[in-house]
Amino acid sequence: MDALIVVDVQNDFCPGGALAVPDGDAVVELINELAKRAPFVVATRDWHPPDHGSFAENGGPWPVHCVRDTPGAQLHPAIDSSHVDVVIDKGQERDREGYSGFDGTELERLLRQRDVDTVHVAGLALDYCVKATALDARRAGFDVVVHRDATRAVEVQPGDAQRAVEELREAGVDVVD
Ligand SMILES: [Zn+2]
Repeated sequence: MDALIVVDVQNDFCPGGALAVPDGDAVVELINELAKRAPFVVATRDWHPPDHGSFAENGGPWPVHCVRDTPGAQLHPAIDSSHVDVVIDKGQERDREGYSGFDGTELERLLRQRDVDTVHVAGLALDYCVKATALDARRAGFDVVVHRDATRAVEVQPGDAQRAVEELREAGVDVVD
């Protein structure tokens, strides 16, 4: 049983958003295609309280982004929600980064309930939440495939995307185009 995890394809991570990933909305079309074929689709959302610890004003590395219930935290409007079975909100605790869709959520339980053995991962951003989600899926014992064409990277440092791919492969994640 396969599942697709669509990581954080939210307005704030797309061009015009508070923490835009370059070319972030370019993943939408491919993700809609992957979702059409996947028997179970989970979309994660970064869903922070207004005083989240990852925000620069609280000493974190990022500008304010994906504050719960704001327009920036909504899924990109072109994501075909008819193929999304479950939305998982993460990063809700002030003092946890919540990069991974598994961090403090019901995601693993949901996947096990449906006898999922292979987890496909796509979305934003490759070098943060996609990577963290894929690594956690691997640690939980799932077979994991990252669809690189359906991701984009932040690249705070040039080369972060390639380093993320290497880290994923070393952990036993299959990274495909
Ligand atoms: Zn965040």
